Amino acid sequence: MVTREINWQEVTAEAVRVLSQYIRIDTTNPPGNEIEGALFLKEILEGDGFECIVLESEKGRGNIVSRYKGDGTLSPLLLLHHIDVVPAEADKWDYPPFSGKVLKDEIWGRGAFDCKSLGVMELMVLLLLKRGGFKSRRDIIFLATGDEEAGGKHGAEWMAKNHFDLINAGSVVNEGGVGGLTVNRKNLYLCQTAEKGVCWIRLTFQGTPGHASMPGGPTCVSDMATVIERISKYRSPLQTSPITTKFIEGFAREQRFMKEERFQGLLDGTTSPDSLDEIPDKGLKNILNSMLYNTFVPTVVRGGNKTNVIPSECYCEIDCRMLPGENPDSIIQELKEACGGSADFDIEILGSSVPTESGISTELYSIIDTTVKKHDSEAKLIPFISAGATDSRFFREKGIPAYGFPQLKVGDSLSSHLEKMHGHNERVSIDSLLHGIRALYDIVFEFCS
Ligand SMILES: [Zn+2]
Repeated sequence: MVTREINWQEVTAEAVRVLSQYIRIDTTNPPGNEIEGALFLKEILEGDGFECIVLESEKGRGNIVSRYKGDGTLSPLLLLHHIDVVPAEADKWDYPPFSGKVLKDEIWGRGAFDCKSLGVMELMVLLLLKRGGFKSRRDIIFLATGDEEAGGKHGAEWMAKNHFDLINAGSVVNEGGVGGLTVNRKNLYLCQTAEKGVCWIRLTFQGTPGHASMPGGPTCVSDMATVIERISKYRSPLQTSPITTKFIEGFAREQRFMKEERFQGLLDGTTSPDSLDEIPDKGLKNILNSMLYNTFVPTVVRGGNKTNVIPSECYCEIDCRMLPGENPDSIIQELKEACGGSADFDIEILGSSVPTESGISTELYSIIDTTVKKHDSEAKLIPFISAGATDSRFFREKGIPAYGFPQLKVGDSLSSHLEKMHGHNERVSIDSLLHGIRALYDIVFEFCS
């Protein structure tokens, strides 16, 4: 039991200070330089008596693990976040992205949302539990990784391959949740329970070269154009799952812009595309589209280097995102069908990650659910599948459930929320930061008691 009352005002001041300092450490990936962030966290943890292990997968690519010892009755809980951030175009920001500026009630900077604020929430929870003398029935592992934004090769993937003994846990709390979207006076909190897999594919086209002044029919470039057009117009068959059903049922009842039955029509193969088109919120529309379909988006095109020369070869690259249950072979098969045998091309997989999923009939998920409601009487927790990959997949692949904690309390539309993630002027409100700490504290306390 916690023996000391927590002074939340002091906690807020401490968390704001720590987050602001953490943002000021430039961990833009590439190059990452996460070691600076890891050492920063180490100093704070050691200041409160925690032992830390800092591991570099390569010079500068730091990861840090620390552990709050429990009595071992229950399996460990791992609190995960990543140290690296995506690049920021400083000239497009109102304040420098690595200033950690505290302005009125907000903390500004790259990483304020993704994912340093979560790191500070997890850190503060650990410190508060220790300061309060909490008797935990589980070990609580703190893990901060590098390289999440570039796929985790130097971070979580490397840790899982080389130091799994240090991070082996029964469940994981990570980024990926979305907090407090106000829909018809209900605050919807989205808990990431699954994520799509990525499959990056290159299609290479061959043709007869020649002088462009004397065309002799289709060229590799025109063949590629036909294929790109087909892929762009293609819609994958609808795929539903218990998560998408729960998401749509949860959302349908609260939204106002469409009749509930119409919204539920998203789950029907014939009505789904039209129902999607009627959703006014772009963010919600995109998220639903990505949850219901495999997607195929042509992104890179290369061919020819002189205007009057027909090249003998050209290629395009397709960003494919696959739903749980799919794999690169099935996605290539689908891509071929989408192209309808319209041209010959060679297929190369440039990179892929498997889709992963955690069930929601777990104690941790239900504690997240009740806690979110305890902290916001208008809250409703809804599971969702994210289109982007997070470090959670390295744990889910090993059968460890991982959940994206809906960390913030923002009465925002989904699109404005999503824009903040890798966009300009990333920031987090102090209110949200405190909300996240309090909610996460209760979740960990309850789950580990
Ligand atoms: Zn992130």
